[in-house]
Amino acid sequence: MRKIATILLLLGLLPGFGFGQKAAPAEMKELRGPQNPRLGFVIHGGAGVISKGSLTPAQEKEYRAKLEEAVTAGYKALQAGKSGLDAFGIAIRILEDSPLFNAGKGAVFTNEGKNELDASIMDGKTLGAGAVAGVHRVKNPITLARAVMEKSPHVMMTGDGAEKFAAEQKIELVDPKYFWTQPRWDALQKILKEEKEKSEKDAKVKSEKVSKSVIDTARPASELPYNKFGTVGAVALDKDGNMAAGTSTGGMTNKKYGRVGDAPIIGAGTYASNATCAVSATGWGEYFIRLSVARDVCSLIEYRALTIQTATDVVIKQKLQKLGGDGGVIAIDKFGNIGISFNSEGMYRAYVNSEGKPVVEIY
Ligand code: ASP
Repeated sequence: MRKIATILLLLGLLPGFGFGQKAAPAEMKELRGPQNPRLGFVIHGGAGVISKGSLTPAQEKEYRAKLEEAVTAGYKALQAGKSGLDAFGIAIRILEDSPLFNAGKGAVFTNEGKNELDASIMDGKTLGAGAVAGVHRVKNPITLARAVMEKSPHVMMTGDGAEKFAAEQKIELVDPKYFWTQPRWDALQKILKEEKEKSEKDAKVKSEKVSKSVIDTARPASELPYNKFGTVGAVALDKDGNMAAGTSTGGMTNKKYGRVGDAPIIGAGTYASNATCAVSATGWGEYFIRLSVARDVCSLIEYRALTIQTATDVVIKQKLQKLGGDGGVIAIDKFGNIGISFNSEGMYRAYVNSEGKPVVEIY
């Protein structure tokens, strides 16, 4: 009886363990033996209010081209025998250097009109991790996160201290003006104007909401239309069967008071363990922190033997959705199976399919 229960559990068929799973697409169901793992590489460029028609054909082409460039560069690095950490470093730096994404060059503005960047990485083989938060002069925060992991005894560094360490490590620092871009500035101005225009009556309604629900205060509804997010991240499975994950972001437009999101929090925005999977998240960070989203996906595989696609769907489409958050994750398991799930309108994403071809998707 116990044996039957174990088999049912592994198949996800035991009542109470299935979470109302949806069938995964055929390609994602395919399992490869651990003795013959395939290379795997998935990236995202943020989730949010990205509906068909919200991008002009020219903009869409630009996003698709940049995602394809990044995923191809990362995958080629894996094919050349580089580690997952090297591969996603290459891909994420391409996205950080592009003004299209909310990371590095294209970072959004804080309420005070600054750019404060967060990033993290995790090595699934060693469970080593590195993260930085609130840096404003580091051109490629993902590079600094890796240095924190490899060159320091710490996991997370913030602000000026992180930048002092960056200088010691000869990591490229730039004038904060480097991160200024017109569209991000306009997005902040739009929100600030709207906030200013709010009448005292609105403020009163808002303060009533505060007492009713903490969730309502995490992000004013007025910000929603501007939150196209745009954080970037990658997960990789390399030729040695090692997994790695990384995430880099400017956070959320109009963030206040030294706010730090999920992207640099190991277990929330990023997680990797060779025993289970590698995950990178994007979305409304406060919710991802509360749910330990990235680690939760891996825990469902570790403790409940769910497939990677089902695990990502359970966390995003059930748990995150229920709590009121939005966003998505990309994930890969030790067999090279890919899981992608989001409950927002869209998520910029790209992966290399089983034929080795790059696939870019937005909606
Ligand atoms: N998760 C990021 C944050 O909350 C935002 C994003 O994914 O775009 O800082």
